[in-house]
Amino acid sequence: MKRNPALASVLQRLAPGRLSRSGFLGQDERSLEEIVAADLADLDAAGVGVAQIADLLDELHQRADEGMEAPQDACGGRATVEIIEAMGRIPCPFACGFRTHKAVVHARAGTVDILFTPLHAHLIREHGFFQGRGSDFRLEPRDLVALYVACKS
Ligand SMILES: [Zn+2]
Repeated sequence: MKRNPALASVLQRLAPGRLSRSGFLGQDERSLEEIVAADLADLDAAGVGVAQIADLLDELHQRADEGMEAPQDACGGRATVEIIEAMGRIPCPFACGFRTHKAVVHARAGTVDILFTPLHAHLIREHGFFQGRGSDFRLEPRDLVALYVACKS
């Protein structure tokens, strides 16, 4: 079976030690296409779009950035966000030219308590990619939907 050469290089960049120490795929044994399709289907079943999730993550990240590593209220007090780590910059592993700074944002709203990075909004919006199961920064669509509901409804 022939592999798409562009996909092969994306898979190399998603592997541990290239752009991130632990990689983006974790122990997930599904193909990249299967991972993306399953997560997008979960989001679709909840009636929430990638743009809504990505916009929310961008909003929470921006608000967290204003806090200078102290907790900040976001979404009119429905959420609390805090930058807990920031260093350097990271390019999108899909090699689309996007770069953002490396940071970890802690967001809490309702029963949801998650960590995300500034790269997540881009990965979800542009690539439908929530990272593989078992990767350090995988985001479960159901948690993002719960975050969205807690912040926006
Ligand atoms: Zn990209």
